[in-house]
Amino acid sequence: MDFAMTEEQTAIFDMAKAFGDDHIAPHATEWEKQGTIPKDLWPKLAELGFGGLYVSEDSGGAGLSRLDATLVFEALSHACPSVAAFLSIHNMCAKMLDNFGSDDLKARLLPDALTMQTFFSYCLTEPGSGSDAAALKTRADRTNAGYTLNGTKAFISGGGYSDAYIVMARTGDAGPKGISALIVEDGTPGLSFGGLEDKMGWRSQPTRQVQLDDCSVPTENLLGDEGHGFRYAMMGLDGGRLNIAACSLGAAQAALTATLAYMGERQAFGKPIDQFQALQFRLADMEIELQAARTFLRQAAWKLDHGTPDATQFCAMAKKFVTEAGSKVADQCLQLHGGYGYLADYGVEKIVRDLRVHQILEGTNEIMRLIVARQMLAAR
Ligand SMILES: Cc1cc2nc3c(=O)[nH]c(=O)nc-3n(C[C@H](O)[C@H](O)[C@H](O)COP(=O)(O)OP(=O)(O)OC[C@H]3O[C@@H](n4cnc5c(N)ncnc54)[C@H](O)[C@@H]3O)c2cc1C
Repeated sequence: MDFAMTEEQTAIFDMAKAFGDDHIAPHATEWEKQGTIPKDLWPKLAELGFGGLYVSEDSGGAGLSRLDATLVFEALSHACPSVAAFLSIHNMCAKMLDNFGSDDLKARLLPDALTMQTFFSYCLTEPGSGSDAAALKTRADRTNAGYTLNGTKAFISGGGYSDAYIVMARTGDAGPKGISALIVEDGTPGLSFGGLEDKMGWRSQPTRQVQLDDCSVPTENLLGDEGHGFRYAMMGLDGGRLNIAACSLGAAQAALTATLAYMGERQAFGKPIDQFQALQFRLADMEIELQAARTFLRQAAWKLDHGTPDATQFCAMAKKFVTEAGSKVADQCLQLHGGYGYLADYGVEKIVRDLRVHQILEGTNEIMRLIVARQMLAAR
């Protein structure tokens, strides 16, 4: 058992951290106000290999492990968890394309996805089905030339912004085995978008409904086999959950680092507030919480990399634990800034807002508990 990061892993973390410091952090507040992330950011990230972090090297990706990828998301989230999490969604889609796309489809779509000339969105949730995702109603009906899609996807990160959408749609009967995954490219007739969702956090990311009205795609746009789309979608989510947890961890760490500095400067009752033992204990508790979260996250990532039978359970446990730890720490950091923590200029309130949704998406934390409990009961 070796808990140390390799030299290469340290270099990956440092590279992502430096990129975030230089190219994301100075603009994060402005992008939040604008409600969008400039598209010219992505090719710069792709130059570092971040457009296909765990896409195989044979396909032109960086071929990193899931553990290595969590380091990237943790590091980037010091600058802005909203931007980092958005990148995670694209990576989840790029991996699905690499794993399950036909050679022709990959040749057509993957190169631009890897250089991030194009950006991908993941469309599973619908207005009537979120946690119970396998109850989705969007249909993809067979035609002579391919499939015609009809339905609505809700809460789609990158809706109206992305260049292609991986849409989970029903090609068969009710239940998970009747679902297939298809790629719908921007500009396809019948593809349209709802209005921009006004959100608590992740405000720099555009979120919209995606509407499919007699939207026809060629047969080649089917990922893998018909009826396997739900399985592909869930496989994507195991890694996605690690990434989201890493985003919580990095941003909470940034809040803690800022709080440590602030507490040395802020005076109350004639001394810096870091001299109150009650507050020192809170600092210690936050440090313990984040170190525990980091270790747990990396263990779960290691399990996914090694394909252990309990990898899905560990990804779910880590997602639940780390996202809750991250939010708790960020909220404490706001508190320790006093009134200034509530002001946008100090940056901590944005972290609190951005991290809250990590307990809801990529499977709510209740669903994470469901996954864990099911495994426990089955193994009894
Ligand atoms: C900002 C944002 C971005 C998103 N981006 C995307 C995206 O890009 N692509 C995408 O497909 N989706 C996306 N989502 C959707 C997200 O994944 C869903 O919101 C989430 O899965 C929860 O579904 P729901 O909102 O329908 O809640 P519901 O499923 O209606 O759940 C409501 C409450 O009931 C609880 N609950 C439900 N079932 C159970 C159960 N069996 N046991 C215990 N508790 C239960 C839930 O945990 C929750 O607390 C995004 C959401 C947000 C807010």
